[in-house]
Amino acid sequence: MGGSMGSGVELIELGLGERDMPTTTPPDPTGPAQLAAQWARIRGRLLQEVGEVEYRTWLRQMMLAGVDGDEIALHLPTRFLRDWVREHYADRLSALWQAENPAIRRVDIRVGGGAPSGLAESLGPSGEPHMSTPHSSNGRGMPRADERGDSRGEPKGEPKAEYRNEPRAELTTGLDPRFTFDAFVVGKPNEFAHACARRVAEQPASQGFNPLFLYGGVGLGKTHLMHAIAWEMVTRSSSAGGPPITVAYMSAERFMYRFIAAIRSQATIEFKDQLRSADVLMIDDLQFLIGKDNTQEEFFHTFNALVEAGKQIVVSADVSPSDLEGLEARLRTRLSHGMVADLHSTTYELRLSILEAKAIRAGVSVPPKVLEFLAHKITSNVRELEGALNRLVAHANLFNRQVTLEATHEVLHDILKAHDRRLTIEEIQRKVAEYYNIRLTDMSSPRRARAVARPRQIAMWLAKQLTQRSLPEIGRKFGNRDHTTVMHAVTRIGELMARDAAFAEDVELLRRMLQS
Ligand code: ADP
Ligand code: MG
Repeated sequence: MGGSMGSGVELIELGLGERDMPTTTPPDPTGPAQLAAQWARIRGRLLQEVGEVEYRTWLRQMMLAGVDGDEIALHLPTRFLRDWVREHYADRLSALWQAENPAIRRVDIRVGGGAPSGLAESLGPSGEPHMSTPHSSNGRGMPRADERGDSRGEPKGEPKAEYRNEPRAELTTGLDPRFTFDAFVVGKPNEFAHACARRVAEQPASQGFNPLFLYGGVGLGKTHLMHAIAWEMVTRSSSAGGPPITVAYMSAERFMYRFIAAIRSQATIEFKDQLRSADVLMIDDLQFLIGKDNTQEEFFHTFNALVEAGKQIVVSADVSPSDLEGLEARLRTRLSHGMVADLHSTTYELRLSILEAKAIRAGVSVPPKVLEFLAHKITSNVRELEGALNRLVAHANLFNRQVTLEATHEVLHDILKAHDRRLTIEEIQRKVAEYYNIRLTDMSSPRRARAVARPRQIAMWLAKQLTQRSLPEIGRKFGNRDHTTVMHAVTRIGELMARDAAFAEDVELLRRMLQS
């Protein structure tokens, strides 16, 4: 069965490649469009090899900067990232480039701003590959031999990993070994979803919990919980000495590609049989089935067949079933029939607990101050948080240094910048005026009395520290003052802070209030 599925998978892979490759461009392998396509495939491959977290931590910001003869130049935004990538990925990058384009003999990894416009355009807005399923349970970073050399024809943005031949016995290979219940930190925002997941893992297909529908925003732990359920079920059944259980876990995209592949290779019966013989079916990121009518139909039938056979279904999506617009009504109804549990956005407390747990797991001592700082700053999702911590830990290990707040600022410079809340100068002025009990208009008035001039200088200092505005821009917001006035204020406040601890504390307090 695996064999026939396999050829279908290959077929779809080449088919997509042919369709999406820029076939009209001249076959100059170092033309911008060709290079961009090659680069997109290399990135996709790297993502697949190292996993999403590692990829985001180290490789996401790498840009194709240009080609010079047989040398390709890649840019990274900081020296630290460059050094890290050189040390850990240079060989792999060379090998991948060679495989893609034999004309490339060397890869030069540098610090730099980005790609020249021509290349950047053909790379698309982010040039970033996408993967919906965590991968490589064979240890991160090491490609399996059978994963090499088949990287052709992957259009940007397609989940390359989804096309791989996957015989039934290997259905769990898509499961990330780190995504267990043990490693999942429970807090208010996810306790309900967690409890439901546990319940399903312990008593599969019980009344009221089938299907289990998990939903929530990106990076909040949906995939983690699904994998945790799978691992728990597998462990339980093997320790009970029963027959091994089969977990079919796949993203909705993979489900779709495999289904289409099965149709093309006339192996739909095998495909159906394979799915229907699973003990548990898990479909991750179901929202990708929207608008894919045939695939939805197939999923609906599989779904019904499995539920009737008393098997557990777990589904995740970014929104609740009722908000999955474009999904067939009957499927939507079926999905909301069991248990629907949402993962809320993280709270500061949860982020802090997650960081603490991950730091312990990584075996690196990170001062509470640093963890608090990160929990405070990186609020988007757990994935980003994890990426930041990973980078810190790696930095500490590499240089055999303690993690400090200072090092954190330096090492995470780029991430933190992106997360800085867009504070406006007006907000700063308002807060400072309020704090010192002066009128907001005094921020731009010509009055020079110390009682208003000092708070005004503090506001300028804060504007310089907390916004990206230039000195002249700041000056304009403070009653059209000259940039030299702002510069003077910035220096003066700096001096005062260095001299007067109480004053410094006031200013720091203001800064913290503005940043929270
Ligand atoms: P989603 O599927 O919702 O987009 P993931 O399950 O992929 O998110 O989670 C993103 C990353 O964050 C993973 O590495 C996961 O292990 C981690 N993560 C998310 N929530 C938690 C949690 N509560 N405890 C520990 N790690 C978490
Ligand atoms: Mg996910």
